[in-house]
Amino acid sequence: MKENYQNEKRLIQAVCQGQEEAWAQLVDQYQGRLINFAMTRLPQRADAEDIVQDTFLAFIKGLNNFRSEVSLETYLFTILRNKIISRYRSLKAKSISLIQDLNISHHQNDDEDAMQYIPGPHPTASWVISQDEQFQLQQKVLSDVLSTFLQELKEERNFRDLKIADLIFYSRISIRNAAGLLDMNENTLKSCKHRWLKRIRQDVARLYLGTEFAASNFEYLLTDIWESHRLSCIKRSTLGAFLLESLEPDWFDYVDFHLTTLGCHFCRASFKDIKQQESNDDKSLFRQRIMKSTVGFLSRPH
Ligand SMILES: [Zn+2]
Repeated sequence: MKENYQNEKRLIQAVCQGQEEAWAQLVDQYQGRLINFAMTRLPQRADAEDIVQDTFLAFIKGLNNFRSEVSLETYLFTILRNKIISRYRSLKAKSISLIQDLNISHHQNDDEDAMQYIPGPHPTASWVISQDEQFQLQQKVLSDVLSTFLQELKEERNFRDLKIADLIFYSRISIRNAAGLLDMNENTLKSCKHRWLKRIRQDVARLYLGTEFAASNFEYLLTDIWESHRLSCIKRSTLGAFLLESLEPDWFDYVDFHLTTLGCHFCRASFKDIKQQESNDDKSLFRQRIMKSTVGFLSRPH
């Protein structure tokens, strides 16, 4: 993990210095998963490629905004996600989160919940892009609190609760449907949700002394953070091990749940990319296109 981080850091430094080769390597490394992700919303490959091209362009133009608090993959996914949401908005589609939308297509009965979804105060300006310091601080605290919460569940190998949390906070499906998917009692899920929200709110209040989160927005903000920070997402190395079926049974079961039942678009895109890695022809063509449209922005003073 540490080595990955160092490699990523070196690669970004080289891109910042305007090294074309490093930029080509970065594009090659990430284009597959980004295109797979885009294609879940824009099924025509040409449309998906266009929006991924825009994503790389936005990344290179705003290279100075990149902060290493999140992985490069998460950062690129966030830019792409926001571009897709804006595209949908401009088409006057329902403004609902991508993950939730996916679950609706899986579980038709959730339509009602989808209509109730009102995005948080800054739905498109996700924290990585937002310049509002107060807002960024709030988000940072909430993200730290949620990370600790999830880390504890993982360390305890409490995959049952991890699944419940994923369904009710990340995908925001109804308690009834979550209970059905997990074959559990609705009341158990209700009490988990109540207990966790209380704890999360208390932890946030302890760490963050600024203005309180508006109660009505809190859960939406929580989902937004969960999604944009990919808090419960699976590491690429773990996805590789899942493919090789070399994970321990409880982890294998959780990864399967995350990819299949929860249907996380990000991890599915990444997983598909791992499986597709052998066919590199499309990749080099697309890389040439990206290079052509972005190379002028390399190493320009911003
Ligand atoms: Zn995921």
